[in-house]
Amino acid sequence: MTKNQGKLIAFSGPAGAGKSTVLRELFKQCPLPLEMSVSATTRSPRPGEQDGVDYHFLTPQEFDRRRSAGDFLECFEVFGLGYWYGTLLSEVTPRLESGKWVVLEVDVDGTMAVLEHFPGAITIFIRPPSLEEVERRLRRRGTETEEVIRRRLEVARREMKLASRYQHQVTNDEVDRAVREICDILNPSDPNSAHGV
Ligand code: 5GP
Repeated sequence: MTKNQGKLIAFSGPAGAGKSTVLRELFKQCPLPLEMSVSATTRSPRPGEQDGVDYHFLTPQEFDRRRSAGDFLECFEVFGLGYWYGTLLSEVTPRLESGKWVVLEVDVDGTMAVLEHFPGAITIFIRPPSLEEVERRLRRRGTETEEVIRRRLEVARREMKLASRYQHQVTNDEVDRAVREICDILNPSDPNSAHGV
């Protein structure tokens, strides 16, 4: 590792834990040079999602091609419904080399694969207040079929059991509080982070 090397931070947590909201606020509030890695996926965009911003939306053929070409740091079929998700090396390597802190939002399998390549990565599991709350949030989103909700809850249950594999666990009971806790983890010496305010 060179002196100017940035850091890799892997966030996981069940769908419905409120990860996206927490991360959005973290980017606003944290003074570190954080940059989000945009993952690739074979699932279809939800209303309002933009290609290249929320995800790189790839056809299964293109995903396969890039996988065979060795373009991914990690990739997995996340929900067992035939959708693939993966972290492109092109999203990570150049940023680390320029000293950025690269944020990944990946599942548990993805995090373990990332740690194999980058043992120094910081891993943070975002817990929902409860599984009942996850179900409520998934239903409120209103974009998923009953089958998808059922599968996601199953994955959520499995993921919660693996939370202890992470270096840090943060409960998203209240977004601002969770963000302060994460800022503290990433930047413990910052006088403006949680203990200071
Ligand atoms: P969603 O379909 O709701 O956008 O994402 C569902 C889940 O897919 C995320 O919560 C995250 O756990 C997982 N995911 C997103 N991007 C990646 C990725 O690049 N790699 C892996 N392994 N999982 C991902």
